[in-house]
Amino acid sequence: MSAADRHWLKQALASLAQEAARSADTHLLRLELPAFPGIDFYFKDEASHPTGSLKHRLARSLFLYALCNGRLREGQGVIDASSGSTAISEAWFARLLGLRFQAVMPDCTAPAKVRLIHSLGAECVLVPAGVDASRLARERAADDGLCYLDQFGLAERATDWRGNNNIAESVLAQMAREPHPEPAWIVCGAGTGGTSATIGRYLRYRQLDTRTCVAEPTGGAFAHGWRTRSPAAVATAPTLIEGIGRPRVEPGFLFDVVDAVQEVDDADAIAGAWLLEDMLGRRYGGSSGTNLVACLALAEGMRERGERGSIVSLLCDRGERYAETLFDPGWLQAHGIALAPALQALRARLGTTPA
Ligand SMILES: *Cc1c(COP(=O)(O)O)cnc(C)c1O
Repeated sequence: MSAADRHWLKQALASLAQEAARSADTHLLRLELPAFPGIDFYFKDEASHPTGSLKHRLARSLFLYALCNGRLREGQGVIDASSGSTAISEAWFARLLGLRFQAVMPDCTAPAKVRLIHSLGAECVLVPAGVDASRLARERAADDGLCYLDQFGLAERATDWRGNNNIAESVLAQMAREPHPEPAWIVCGAGTGGTSATIGRYLRYRQLDTRTCVAEPTGGAFAHGWRTRSPAAVATAPTLIEGIGRPRVEPGFLFDVVDAVQEVDDADAIAGAWLLEDMLGRRYGGSSGTNLVACLALAEGMRERGERGSIVSLLCDRGERYAETLFDPGWLQAHGIALAPALQALRARLGTTPA
């Protein structure tokens, strides 16, 4: 490595360390649900990262991983495949490091995400359903000498699984003074699978009884793959929920550290996102709604068995990104989602009255 290359690498790593020092950890919000006495619900607000989703952690890790593996140099363009959230965070970090960024995304990605990526000075390559975005990104990287960040390939290894303030370590530290500091369940979605892998491994490493549950759109590839342990599993139903519900098993799907999968229908997940707004006064996306509904199913089981304890989950991204999709009644109708009955059923299960 030339002296100039080494100098730039040090500066890039220093910029990322500065960014980490400026950023705070995310809040763990407690939800009171009167229908579940003795069961405490907590949601970690990953939407409060500077780039609005849990992918802020991943993007920082992917840039660090690329830099420390000697795969990213001064002036090199950067590319990745994404359903949007990762691309927003990667575009933000690329701008921080003075690098050009291209995002390869499905053409159905929420328009607000595309606008945000453009406003961060990055380029979007929108591909129709059925086109393998990861493969396209990899090919473009090879053809044009770009650095392929490869979130789907590297998510489960770019994060330090033994700690370093990974999301699991942070949750457990924030739970320390709660009535049930060792959660019964931690619930998350699976897009890259990185979050569930980090949580599942860390709980084992810390020798806790807490179990990991993946909340998955009904018919998603993770659900099928987890049941059969088959890397060839594919989704058997499409989903409107962005960030999770992958069409195929991704390299970061580590089935063996996941204890349960809860499948959630899109209408329930979307109703869940709407109810989170009622309960928390802020909007979160569809994967957060999916998590809420999965938590509810687990809590109903605990209540039936007379168990007490805590359930922790994540608010994955900001709901403002879905103003023209999940939060637009016209869009929902056009996509065959009957919101009103789903909201009513979910409110009854939660024991909340209409706002
Ligand atoms: C990526 C993503 C997830 C899933 O997290 P992974 O760590 O990639 O499995 C959930 N919700 C949203 C909004 C996401 O962008």
